[in-house]
Amino acid sequence: MRGRTRVNHPPEVAVAADNRPLVAPIYQSVKFAFDSVEEALRAERGERPGFSYTRRANPTSRQLERLLAELQGRDDCIACGSGVAAVAASLLALARAGDHVLGFVETYGPSRQLLQGLLGRFGVAHTLLTIEDDAGIGRVLAARPTRLVYFESPTNPLNRIADLAAITRAAHAHGALTVLDNTLAGFHNHGQYGIDVFVHSLTKYAAGHGDVLGGAIIARQELADRIRRDAVNLGAVLDPHAAFLVLRGMRTYYLRYEAQAASALAVATFLAGHPAVARVHYPGLPDHARHALARAQMHDFGAVVTFDLALDADGVRSFVDALEFFAIGPSLGSVESLVLPPELLRPRGLSAEQAAASGIGPATVRLSIGIEDPADLIADLDAALPR
Ligand SMILES: *Cc1c(COP(=O)(O)O)cnc(C)c1O
Repeated sequence: MRGRTRVNHPPEVAVAADNRPLVAPIYQSVKFAFDSVEEALRAERGERPGFSYTRRANPTSRQLERLLAELQGRDDCIACGSGVAAVAASLLALARAGDHVLGFVETYGPSRQLLQGLLGRFGVAHTLLTIEDDAGIGRVLAARPTRLVYFESPTNPLNRIADLAAITRAAHAHGALTVLDNTLAGFHNHGQYGIDVFVHSLTKYAAGHGDVLGGAIIARQELADRIRRDAVNLGAVLDPHAAFLVLRGMRTYYLRYEAQAASALAVATFLAGHPAVARVHYPGLPDHARHALARAQMHDFGAVVTFDLALDADGVRSFVDALEFFAIGPSLGSVESLVLPPELLRPRGLSAEQAAASGIGPATVRLSIGIEDPADLIADLDAALPR
């Protein structure tokens, strides 16, 4: 074999089946070959296991999918290139022209824009309610055939809590599927409810380190098979190198989530006692409007702490600028703490009435609590707040 050929047919290094690496390798290969046409065709027909093309399946991505499906308590998972890709693939796979989707003013902005824009252009109508309007949800579902109820809990950024039992019961009574964006609650929460489809941004708690984008769709087999066909054709798949990074992040998922949630509760408690803070929105606090429901539904309450300052616009701006350990930036759930001022939280594409119903005010600030020492975070907040 000459050099030009050799570099394209490098020597193979076989690893025996009883000599496994402790960390599974990254299968950074788009193509998988068979030794004969017959075996390739058998794999194609599903008569033997095998991979062919990474857009359809890849061993590293598959390991992540199996892990996440098990943690969330469903049959299967489709790993996607981002959280928004997971949302878009789910919506496009499950809705068709003429359908109606029930969404909410609190829905994550880009997901809401998919409902209002893309799905609208393909003839899918939607209604937006507020997530705590259980009576309204029942009324809309009774009045109008609805394909999907698309929602989040806790919502971002206000940490409103959906009544999962009430929503799944009402949806199923009226033949609608429930799709829950479970990013803020995480894989260890909400599996016990009759949610049909979970979507997650893996960019947040799963990857955990702010260095990789990813998304996941998790559902029972029949729904997952349906969604996978469309997701693969949309090309919204996760790259195996990104899947490896998310798998590495998942090794410390519980440790990080629990530590961040404990620090978030400490921060929320501190803020609730400060005279410059008008109101704290954290479901772990006893005076949260749906604290009892959150306790019943969730093991812990996440790392997002949102609050309204009792300050004018200049005061809010000075507070955010004065913080030392909270970077001003989007996203949440990573190891580092973050802050977003009201100007960057304001929902876009809502009527004035809907924007008011979303609860985000001119002095609303969102924190994402990382794994720094909570005493340092509280001291930082204390120093930045006026006395
Ligand atoms: C961040 C986020 C998304 C989008 O995820 P990306 O990975 O950034 O595409 C969707 N839903 C929620 C609730 C999020 O916080």
